[in-house]
Amino acid sequence: MSPADQKPLRLFLALWPDQTLREAIHNCSNELLVAQQDWHGRLVDKRNLHMTLAFLGSVATDRLDCIKKAAASLCWQAFTLQLDQPGFWDRARVAWLAPTDIPQQLTDLEQQLRRSLVTCGFAQQQRDYHPHVTLARKCRAPESSDVPAPLQQSLVWEVNNLVLVSSVTDPAGVRYEVIGRWQPDKTS
Ligand code: ATP
Ligand code: MG
Repeated sequence: MSPADQKPLRLFLALWPDQTLREAIHNCSNELLVAQQDWHGRLVDKRNLHMTLAFLGSVATDRLDCIKKAAASLCWQAFTLQLDQPGFWDRARVAWLAPTDIPQQLTDLEQQLRRSLVTCGFAQQQRDYHPHVTLARKCRAPESSDVPAPLQQSLVWEVNNLVLVSSVTDPAGVRYEVIGRWQPDKTS
């Protein structure tokens, strides 16, 4: 079957935690949901935790080469994220964890990616970028509008890979398949 005959994929590019960090984020979201009992919500499966850089939506498979070339052409260095601030978005009904300090390297990486995806024919993303890891979905709006306290100890993320993910919806729920992975440039 040629790529043009294959079904479109639902794609996004993301930062992908390693197993140890996945465990730590999951433990933290368990604790947060207990602490913020009025959030309720369904925890994101440990295997699915990630930080989206760019959401592409439904994409014909003959565009995969261009997307992969765009990801491979990015110039970036490894950087550190400190995940320290839980929060909640009413409209999306999601609870999340985010870095209070957004490193310039992350901003640059996301902007480079935005620009290079335009060269693959994707419309320029107009929305501001709010880096976060979704912890739980289908939450209820908290009764209190107070911002949750920052974590006592932030989760440290040494960001050293970027992935292209295919999001597949099974009867059991959403499943993410990593179909491309790129490392930062080597420091000289
Ligand atoms: P489900 O939609 O089944 O609850 P999900 O949201 O985890 O599961 P997707 O909808 O495929 O799975 O989304 C994959 C990633 O892209 C998630 O991080 C999601 O927040 C993000 N995303 C989805 N839709 C958009 C969008 N329109 N704009 C920006 N990011 C999006
Ligand atoms: Mg979704």
